[in-house]
Amino acid sequence: MTTTPAIPVERIVMSRISSVDFNNLGFGNYISDHMLVADYDNGKWHEPKILPFGELAMTPAILALHYGQSIFEGMKAFKNKNGEINIFRAQRHHQRLLRSLDRMCMPAISEEMFIQSLSALVATDASWVPDSEGSALYLRPVVFATESRLGVKISDEYKFVVLTSPVGPYFAKPVRVKVEETYVRAAEGGAGFAKCAGNYGGAFYPTQLAKQQGFDQVLWTDAHDHKYIDESGAMNVMFVLNGKLVTPKLTTSILDGVTRNSILTLADDMGMPKEERKISVAEIKEGFENGTLTEAFGVGTAAVVSTIAVINIGGKDYSLPADSNSSFQQRVKKKLHNIRMGTEPDVHNWNYRVPMK
Ligand SMILES: *Cc1c(COP(=O)(O)O)cnc(C)c1O
Repeated sequence: MTTTPAIPVERIVMSRISSVDFNNLGFGNYISDHMLVADYDNGKWHEPKILPFGELAMTPAILALHYGQSIFEGMKAFKNKNGEINIFRAQRHHQRLLRSLDRMCMPAISEEMFIQSLSALVATDASWVPDSEGSALYLRPVVFATESRLGVKISDEYKFVVLTSPVGPYFAKPVRVKVEETYVRAAEGGAGFAKCAGNYGGAFYPTQLAKQQGFDQVLWTDAHDHKYIDESGAMNVMFVLNGKLVTPKLTTSILDGVTRNSILTLADDMGMPKEERKISVAEIKEGFENGTLTEAFGVGTAAVVSTIAVINIGGKDYSLPADSNSSFQQRVKKKLHNIRMGTEPDVHNWNYRVPMK
């Protein structure tokens, strides 16, 4: 058996944790004391290091800034009822990281390096993992091109950085979404399935317009005809239609959400019939008109489940019935929460226990 050397840690002199209002965390407002940094050059990744969170020295010519080779992940670590810290579905997030890296011509990171990096960083900042209801330590791995050069090319140098942030419960208010019929987030054959920075930059403008019109998010449709639902903002979307859980089948324009996968898996465990298929805007409209559409919600790591109250189709608002504790979305959210808190068995092996020093 080979043992990998421990990741070196340069500790912060004065922790910033006393400046954190743990009763009012919000999302992404605080960055924990330490960060992990690893460099890639000459065809290989070098040993990661844990450093105090702070500035990195780089020139303004790094290729990520000019040509967009930058991808990230978003995941969470939870403190369970026994005070143990688990990273949720680390392996599946790693598999998606590999697909994003591959699509952007960036070098792979091994599962061992990825998981050890995350777990060493979380162990270093273990005191930053909140334990109040609905809170977590959000983990943000990011990989970007650092070769300093202006000519268009695939970078030969990269940085892998991991930041962490204690986060509270996400927007609890049911959201109003608008079916987008003009703008496009991603087209089939593009990079919509990769968690790359550019997908977000391009989505800001149409989202800002929707917000000016009184909506919280857009519901993206296919780039070709705007006839089929893709996803919602930065979340996958699910519906309960005729008593079945339905969600768009994955394509190259849809991000393969880990939360989407967890919920589809739990639907099976709960005996909820499910379908992954094309969903047309016309079908959703019909579901409103004949009362067969009973739930709509976004799913993602940040909010877990975000209830949709209103869907605007072609300029007309359609309202969902009020959400209740017995809805599928609330029951599945609770089940996911219990698995993370250790109050329900983790039958799918989703919790990765962070070894403590
Ligand atoms: C990250 C992301 C999601 C949700 O994925 P999770 O793995 O569940 O967090 C959905 N859509 C987009 C565009 C995303 O970037």
